[in-house]
Amino acid sequence: MDLGIAGTWALVCGASKGLGLGCAQALAAEGVNVVMVARGAEVLQAAAGRLRAASPGVAVIAVAADITSAEGRAAAFSAAGGPGTAFDIVVTNAGGPPTGDFRTWDREAWLRAVDANMLTPIELIKATVDGMAARGFGRIVNITSSAVKAPIDILGLSNGARSGLTGFVAGVARSGIAAKGVTINNLLPGKFDTERLQGTLAGAAAQSGRSVDEVRAAQMAQIPARRFGQPQEFGAICAFLCSRQAGYINGQNILPDGGAFPGTF
Ligand code: NAP
Repeated sequence: MDLGIAGTWALVCGASKGLGLGCAQALAAEGVNVVMVARGAEVLQAAAGRLRAASPGVAVIAVAADITSAEGRAAAFSAAGGPGTAFDIVVTNAGGPPTGDFRTWDREAWLRAVDANMLTPIELIKATVDGMAARGFGRIVNITSSAVKAPIDILGLSNGARSGLTGFVAGVARSGIAAKGVTINNLLPGKFDTERLQGTLAGAAAQSGRSVDEVRAAQMAQIPARRFGQPQEFGAICAFLCSRQAGYINGQNILPDGGAFPGTF
């Protein structure tokens, strides 16, 4: 299927590894020009190099910046040669907060989580959505978490901050921009095999006294698919949500989790 987005420009945040990289790869494979953002320059440049080799027809620009800072976002916006309003597609993502016990989280820990996983996506939406509406096409995909639907106790910072973003998106996606070709959806990963998941497994192992391998096997056994997801699968879903064909999917929370969430809806 031709997704109809070749030649557009995408900003993909947290794009040097894991799910963000999966999204950048899938979009570039569809002919989308990609601005990739992550803090670590070396890993980011290597990922961008692999993307250029795999999708030689598209522009791939790597911006080493912290997307949670105003300076980082300004660097990302200027990289495509124009203001923030020049992006047709935005994938928000900034890494997840640490695991732990809520009794140990102080105000600063909460502010960091809310900043990265709620306010940064809102700033990115604010900077781009009106330009998209004026041009008659736009796709915003926020990488959130299955924890929004089924909270995970040791990920309380994520449960809280991302639920705030989800409530905001539910309103803005249905505002005036919806009639102007712009959609905003959230992608809620279940368990995907990335560095982040390794860290979460290690946190769960430390808390339970089991080995990481035991925790990994136990978690896979709870997923009907009996495996973790792959970033490429996640990227393909993201690319579809960014497609012309997905124009009638708006304000939704899409849950790729191998069937782990046990509800009917
Ligand atoms: P990952 O493998 O740790 O990759 C995170 C990516 O984001 C890296 O490229 C990282 O590069 C970048 N990044 C982190 N903080 C950043 C910042 N402030 N500014 C710019 N880039 C930043 O994580 P992942 O598994 O792909 O997860 C992506 C998101 O989905 C996270 O929010 C995670 O909590 C959430 N999630 C993941 C899973 C899962 O199973 N994997 C499940 C539920 C939710 P640098 O560190 O170099 O900046």
